[in-house]
Amino acid sequence: MAVYLDHNATTPLDPRVLEAMMPYLRDHYGNASSVHSYGRLARNAVDQAREQVAALVNAQSAQVVFTGCGTESNNLALKGVAARLAAGRVAVSAVEHASLLGPARALEWQGWIIDTIAVDDQCRVSSASLSEALNHTPQIVSVMMANNETGVIQDIPAISAQARRVGAIMHTDAVQAAGKIPVDFPASGAHLMSLSAHKLYGPKGVGALIVDKTLELEPLLHGGGHEMGRRGGTENVAGIVGFGAAAELALNELAVRSAHLCRLRGLLEAGLRELPGVVIFAAQGCASAMGAGRAEVAAERVERLPNTVLIGAPGIDGEALLMNMDRKGIAVSSGSACASGSGEPSHVLLAMGVDPDLARRVIRISLGQGNTPEDVLRFIAVLREQIECIRATAHSAWDM
Ligand code: PLP
Repeated sequence: MAVYLDHNATTPLDPRVLEAMMPYLRDHYGNASSVHSYGRLARNAVDQAREQVAALVNAQSAQVVFTGCGTESNNLALKGVAARLAAGRVAVSAVEHASLLGPARALEWQGWIIDTIAVDDQCRVSSASLSEALNHTPQIVSVMMANNETGVIQDIPAISAQARRVGAIMHTDAVQAAGKIPVDFPASGAHLMSLSAHKLYGPKGVGALIVDKTLELEPLLHGGGHEMGRRGGTENVAGIVGFGAAAELALNELAVRSAHLCRLRGLLEAGLRELPGVVIFAAQGCASAMGAGRAEVAAERVERLPNTVLIGAPGIDGEALLMNMDRKGIAVSSGSACASGSGEPSHVLLAMGVDPDLARRVIRISLGQGNTPEDVLRFIAVLREQIECIRATAHSAWDM
């Protein structure tokens, strides 16, 4: 059996989530907008899921807008807010996911000016660059809660407070954070927050945008008034039920999951440090405390997701290494799943000031609930063997 270490790309469906979804795939096929008993059954299931997703991020259920994915949530946040405003400025961090940078670029076509907020060499938003962007009084600011490549967690409450001070609407992409660290919508200070089910052991094709109720938001999909008029289209009832079940499990098991991941990450990083030349990005001051209550957690802020480790190996071709690892039964990625295979260095690492050559030689290991210490040890052994093999080949070619 192959070892799957790519949980930031997607996670397996939790069997308990599948079980919750099955009745809505098989028997309860009603349209949640219908008034008859079939419809009411579906509506009740959607309402329950709305409460479960809201609870995961300490929001109110009326603030949850179900979407088709995290990408749609990011698009709805940016384009939906921008559509109700006269074109002005949007400030986004340099390390956002493509699903946020894409809509930001699309807004440029409509006359918006995009200011990029720089990050430091540890992938943290630079306070000088943030202040500079805020001096231009942007209408919208978007900074992700946790980065999908490095796992670095931003101080969203502090960033939101500054953004609100200049009157901006604050959005945060919490797609990678939710389910891995405590996420609290009101405490984040954001007006909008994106989530995605398949990153937390739920089904693919379901996301949510948490929206401050006072906010003006133009739908991307106009239709029959679904989702409080914010997203037209018949609800994906089974998918939404799955998201709700996954969110409830993630909330209830957060501390246990985090402890498991922290243990595995400790083992992984100890093994990586034994490998000559391997660099762990954004590893400075990496803490992983996970308190039980929200207040405790705010005091013990983690800096990096407990499951994510991004490494570079000078002299090693990242894509070739990835392929060889795959042949040996190890599934990892060379950064963001969306960008891998492009051969382009990661925009996240470039923004961190990493040498473009090294930025092409990276592997992202993202651990999950199903991983064991044996998986980690096997990964280290295969990586060691591959690096030695690639370096020996390079040396003998050099000797000829
Ligand atoms: N935002 C981040 C940080 C992500 O990592 C991803 C997916 O990798 C997305 C948004 C997009 O989510 P989805 O795959 O549900 O469209």
